[in-house]
Amino acid sequence: MKIALIAHDKEKPQMARFAAAYREVLRGHELFATGHTGQVVATATQLPVTCFNSGPLGGDQEIGALIAQNQMDLVLFFRDPLTAQPHEPDVNALIRLADVYKVPLATNLGTAEVLLRGLATGLLAFRELVTGDEKRHEQYE
Ligand code: PGA
Repeated sequence: MKIALIAHDKEKPQMARFAAAYREVLRGHELFATGHTGQVVATATQLPVTCFNSGPLGGDQEIGALIAQNQMDLVLFFRDPLTAQPHEPDVNALIRLADVYKVPLATNLGTAEVLLRGLATGLLAFRELVTGDEKRHEQYE
């Protein structure tokens, strides 16, 4: 599965702890992230992460573009709900596209935990039906 990770600045320490805690689940999947979040996740897990631009410089939109091409299966987005973000329109656009394409998206730690535990037990296998990618299904069984 292709998993996107994004964390606003104040949420990055939590993302680092989360990624380290779920390293064994994340390990079998392709990881993508906005620029600085990707560095945080790669350092915390020692796993390869494809990094896009930083969020405020278009990284959220790059991930949104992959969602629009059905090339992203899960988005874990640790939003900071208490700080104004200069790229709020991009954040909203990303969440909207996830809804358009029915891609599971967490916007906080609690939901992210549920989604990764679901991923670990095969609950997200429906994504292979959406993408029609049976090889990917075999790979993660
Ligand atoms: P960053 O971007 O990972 O490059 O900090 C995240 C964001 O603010 O959307």
